[in-house]
Amino acid sequence: MTTAAETKKTTSPSPIQSPLAVFGGPRAVPEDLKLPTWPTLSPEDIEAGAAALRKAAEEPLYLSAAEGGGPTGEFEEALGKHLGIPHVLATSGGGPALHIAVVAAGIEAGDEVIVSPYTWGQTISCILQQCAIPVFADVDPDTGNIDPVSIERRITPRTKGIVVVHIFGHPADMDPILEIARRHRLVVIEDAAQAAFARYKGRPIGTLGDVGCFSMGSGKNFVGGEGGALVTRDEGMFKRAIAFGTHPMRQRGALKGFPELETYATSLIHTYRPHPIFCVLAGSQLRRIDAMNESRRRNAEHLARGLAGLSLVEPPTVKPWAEPAWHIWPLKFRPENAGGLAKPEYVRALMSEGVPIGRGYVRTPFHMRPAFRDRVYWYGKGLPWSLRPVADQIVYREGDCPAAERLCRERELVFGAGPWIRDLRPILDRWIEAFRKVEARIDELLARRAEIPPLPPL
Ligand SMILES: *Cc1c(COP(=O)(O)O)cnc(C)c1O
Repeated sequence: MTTAAETKKTTSPSPIQSPLAVFGGPRAVPEDLKLPTWPTLSPEDIEAGAAALRKAAEEPLYLSAAEGGGPTGEFEEALGKHLGIPHVLATSGGGPALHIAVVAAGIEAGDEVIVSPYTWGQTISCILQQCAIPVFADVDPDTGNIDPVSIERRITPRTKGIVVVHIFGHPADMDPILEIARRHRLVVIEDAAQAAFARYKGRPIGTLGDVGCFSMGSGKNFVGGEGGALVTRDEGMFKRAIAFGTHPMRQRGALKGFPELETYATSLIHTYRPHPIFCVLAGSQLRRIDAMNESRRRNAEHLARGLAGLSLVEPPTVKPWAEPAWHIWPLKFRPENAGGLAKPEYVRALMSEGVPIGRGYVRTPFHMRPAFRDRVYWYGKGLPWSLRPVADQIVYREGDCPAAERLCRERELVFGAGPWIRDLRPILDRWIEAFRKVEARIDELLARRAEIPPLPPL
């Protein structure tokens, strides 16, 4: 912790000594110090896109992914190589990849699937889309990732699988999860949408469970504008994925030798195929994704070092097994040291200093959201919950997942780490100054609480 005495030792006029910006003082982060624009297309990405369009002018089918060849096939091969996994299916998005994965993994209507309530909704909606029933396990309060101990407590004879999200790009603890899954014969689906090319004990995230899903939507670490992918080592699952989510033109060749799938292969499909131009752009970005992620990690480490020792905020825990691919960089507010200052007041003071901090991410854990409280989803007739006998009803209540609830209620703070693709130390140093300034003046903040304006609307 930086004490007042240490602060006074500094001789140059430090921003820490100037009045807080929230009360009219100068900002710690100058107005003109801005993050790079992001997501970006490099000249190579643009040339790759233009070349694909030129080719499409001559071969119109080049712009259709119905057969799965062309740029789609090339991207699938490149991603498979990059991850060291044999089967890749490009899709129209991460959400579609997850829905296909749940189906391909053999989860059926009415089955229970264990999942974290601390995530983006599509980690969970893929379960509902198969009319299966989400059962929420609590999270590790350090990382926000699903807690293996809590998973084990939620297993019933009806449990069929686990969807594991690597939230913010920090890998979940996969070994104990895979061990529990083996013991109880459960499938493991990884939602790697926020964790493209993160590693767990040296192995790429998304390749550890039975099936992994990625997103290349425009906010993610490598982008194609939109798009996603499903990866697996299991040939049977891959064929099921093709049967469920691809055009009959692609099924025709791919399902040979799988009569139980071929018999039913028709156009009764979900149109989840990708646009080939996404595959071209994402394929081009694939060449520099590791360097971009490395830069995100270096910036993250710099910021973490700068904030270490502060008492109002805690940089993210990096577990010994983890090489994160920060999509979001999560901090934690420490109300126990804030003397009653509320998180929104702290955030408001930082925002006024020019720090682009987010007040939270999940905000309300999913087991406490109206859709679950009221058990309302799109299929009507109380589905999927009505598939289970009344005596066996699953209820969703506050208190089910205390660690996730506490993270949301009082601790989560975030930076979007997407733009951290260059060396940002000069900007990060100003952010660090701002954190120190606000912390050094917490007494003033407490004394003048009534003057702190509310947070701007979302
Ligand atoms: C973005 C995201 C998805 C969905 O990806 P889309 O490509 O937007 O469909 C799913 N899960 C998580 C955790 C995500 O962040």
